[in-house]
Amino acid sequence: MPETYQNYIDGEWRDSETGETFDVKNPADTSEVVGSFQRSSEADTNGAIDAAASAEDEWADTPAATRGEFLRETAKRMDAREEELTETLVREEGKLRGEANGEVNRAIDIFYYYAERALDYAGERKKGAADQNLYYVREPMGVAGLIVPWNYPIAIPCWKMAPALATGNTLVIKPSKEAPNVLRAVFECMDEAADEVDVPDGVFNFVSGGGEEVGQAILDHEEVDTVSFTGSRQVGEMIYEQATEDHKRVQTELGSKNPTVVSPSADVQEAAETVASGAFGVTGQACTATERAIVHDSQYEEFVEALVEEAESVEPGFGLDDDSTMGPHVSESELESTLEYVERGKEEGATLEYGGERLDGDEYDDGYFVQPTVFTDVDNDMDIMQEEVFGPFVGVTTYSDFEEAVELVNDVEFGLSAGIVTDDHTEANRFIDEVDFGVVKVNEATTGLELHVPFGGMNASSSETYREQGEEGMDFFTIIKTVYED
Ligand code: NAP
Repeated sequence: MPETYQNYIDGEWRDSETGETFDVKNPADTSEVVGSFQRSSEADTNGAIDAAASAEDEWADTPAATRGEFLRETAKRMDAREEELTETLVREEGKLRGEANGEVNRAIDIFYYYAERALDYAGERKKGAADQNLYYVREPMGVAGLIVPWNYPIAIPCWKMAPALATGNTLVIKPSKEAPNVLRAVFECMDEAADEVDVPDGVFNFVSGGGEEVGQAILDHEEVDTVSFTGSRQVGEMIYEQATEDHKRVQTELGSKNPTVVSPSADVQEAAETVASGAFGVTGQACTATERAIVHDSQYEEFVEALVEEAESVEPGFGLDDDSTMGPHVSESELESTLEYVERGKEEGATLEYGGERLDGDEYDDGYFVQPTVFTDVDNDMDIMQEEVFGPFVGVTTYSDFEEAVELVNDVEFGLSAGIVTDDHTEANRFIDEVDFGVVKVNEATTGLELHVPFGGMNASSSETYREQGEEGMDFFTIIKTVYED
């Protein structure tokens, strides 16, 4: 029998008042149920928000050093459970062991990082008149409502929770229905750390369930001061609209359609490896995944050949098997969505160079496996070059001069991560200047982030209100008060 897991509300593990649960399955083998989770209601969510609101003042008044110690104690416990967290993540979301382990370690480092930042993020003293103290302080915003996707189910929650807690906010988080288990395990670590450091009940709360119930209840509750959302454009735009109407502070980080330009100065093999890593790594299920390769005319044929070879060498499989080099899609609906874009590409007149087929049969244990897909003969205005395809899917197009490459890069509504592979430093600098993307990668895949620098998109990829991660990630959770003291 799969284990049934509870919500974490007001310092204790609790069942939902609905008495209902939902199952989470291993996407590499759907006969394996990872666990059952509470199908929570608006009332459950309101209970969690009320607990967070009651704890708000005490946590805001807790010394920063204590808040930091709580984060550090949590990180230590996560570190001690690193292997278990890695396997939990593989079994519910489908990443490869190495990919999952990287994500788990990132989450641990995020807690350590903000444990330190808690101490030195308070405000600043300025020079005023002779007899004047002039300074500003940063105060916590209050209750944070955090709504997260399934595709980085431990790193994204941690990069929202740790800065919120470090700056003295309390929080309620809703994991995705697809992958709540690894965050539930982080809450076990937080629960133990809270006992050790004496954190008040209600500071951090975990409520599993659907977006339309739990997510909507977070948006509707007047005690929620900030809403931080990562997910699809469709849901994010709705959340942004409601939250701003209700005068909540809101940040939304959404999907994208990320390009990599291949310069005539690039080494073609290196460029193909960079694009393949950005397109097929984590099964293409990253907001920063490469979906468009924009290749100079002179390199096109050689590049396509090298990219197809990269795609052919991919071995889809269960993430804990050593010979797998790409995991499954997270769900049937995500797999179907990718396959629909394969059909759309064919209808639009693009050439399917490689892949695009579902993989099933015994070897694939009823998992959601697909081949990596490469399209050529694409136009930038085709749907497959404009809309996010959340799978291992890339279209290759050509350009003849740098201006045209930049025009193609910017000719999408999204703007998260843009790359160029080049041996020409001046060209790289022009690219950095001219592209409308929040992250720019030179000679690196569009995927992959560092935790101590700000992260966020432009245009339809982001609300562009605040950045996440780095010290800037704390700004969203604080409000400045300026003091003039004679
Ligand atoms: P999603 O469908 O938008 O869901 C994200 C979260 O919102 C889930 O927890 C979901 O709950 C919840 N939700 C759904 N409907 C809601 C509603 N009406 N009210 C409140 N909450 C609601 O996105 P996803 O499929 O999980 O994630 C993939 C997307 O995230 C991709 O577009 C990807 O590009 C984007 N992403 C962006 C970034 C970034 O930093 N820019 C990072 C990672 C992912 P359920 O449990 O019901 O699904």
